[in-house]
Amino acid sequence: MKVPFLDLSAAYRELKDGLDGAYQRVSETSWYIQGSEVTEFEKEFSRYCGVGHCIGAGNGLDALHLIVRALGIGPGDEVLVPSNTFIATWLAVTHAGAMPVAVEPDALTHNMDPARIEAAITPRTKAIMPVHLYGQAADMDPILAIAQAHGLKVIEDAAQAHGARYRGRRVGTFGCASAFSFYPGKNLGALGDAGCVVTDDAALAKAIRELGNYGSAQKYHHDTLGFNTRLDELQAAFLRVKLAACDEWNARRQAIAAHYLTRLAGANLILPKVLDEAEPVWHVFVVRVQQRDAVVKMLAEKGVATLIHYPIPPSRSGAYAHLGLSDGALPIAETLCGEVLSLPMGPHLSLEAADHVCDALLAALEVHA
Ligand SMILES: *Cc1c(COP(=O)(O)O)cnc(C)c1O
Repeated sequence: MKVPFLDLSAAYRELKDGLDGAYQRVSETSWYIQGSEVTEFEKEFSRYCGVGHCIGAGNGLDALHLIVRALGIGPGDEVLVPSNTFIATWLAVTHAGAMPVAVEPDALTHNMDPARIEAAITPRTKAIMPVHLYGQAADMDPILAIAQAHGLKVIEDAAQAHGARYRGRRVGTFGCASAFSFYPGKNLGALGDAGCVVTDDAALAKAIRELGNYGSAQKYHHDTLGFNTRLDELQAAFLRVKLAACDEWNARRQAIAAHYLTRLAGANLILPKVLDEAEPVWHVFVVRVQQRDAVVKMLAEKGVATLIHYPIPPSRSGAYAHLGLSDGALPIAETLCGEVLSLPMGPHLSLEAADHVCDALLAALEVHA
């Protein structure tokens, strides 16, 4: 049995009629940039999140970067980011001219550990940027309390957590603004690069919209030094079809995760911990295993594809060598990156396939116990 990590062609097949129809609709109007598909998607996604404004962007990194810039955060400022995240979280801060300052995670939830935030705050700190990593909400209550006590903004990196909830509320609604990615492999994925910002702040929404549209609110009037990073009509049309399926597809992921948690309980590995307040949408299902490389090899031999999110933390990446964060500077992130293993996960994974994954993993763990 072959188990792919994520089956995007099955996703296309399930929604083929809607997606093909969306392509035809846009092609027939031949209006490709800033038209009604984007406007309608922005309305639908802001309603989905429960937030006042949605602004389409070219991708998730740009969405985060626009937020940081529009908040006036730049050179001389610091933003607290997780030590274990996709590098985009850090890059958004760096590209705005500010400094990302790493906060270590709780090693069981993998999310930013609120108990470690205050020690990282300096007079230069302007914002906290928690990531809802792997589809589980970060522990927002203490993060918001610390932010308030120190006068800091909270920017959510919700790129992996479309539809996830914390105390019953969707992520993306807690900070002053939040970024989503619609990269094809995300829970809500376009058929190419796409992203957006959501916020309840009308003035911030306006500033972000202009900044991502050549610094322009009116065609050929350029009031700020803007960027070109917009959601295009085709991707918006595809996303409208996929948004209608998002909750059901997340529920399927939740069923797979529940199955993994049951079948793998008691095995020689560390399962992800879910906060009482959180309802994860399981963008990926990450376990921690010793001798990971040997386990990956045995799984591959049994047809089970796995990935590692992420093998190298930003601090150990060449791009951030200049920060001089040497070995041991961020020990939790460094330990996790040597142990984390993402199992196949997605709305088109059958329970039978998930069982095959569990059988193969349990056998590999026996051999390497
Ligand atoms: C995917 C991702 C991003 C960036 O999204 P892109 O659309 O690929 O630019 C940012 N942060 C996190 C945590 C992500 O997983």
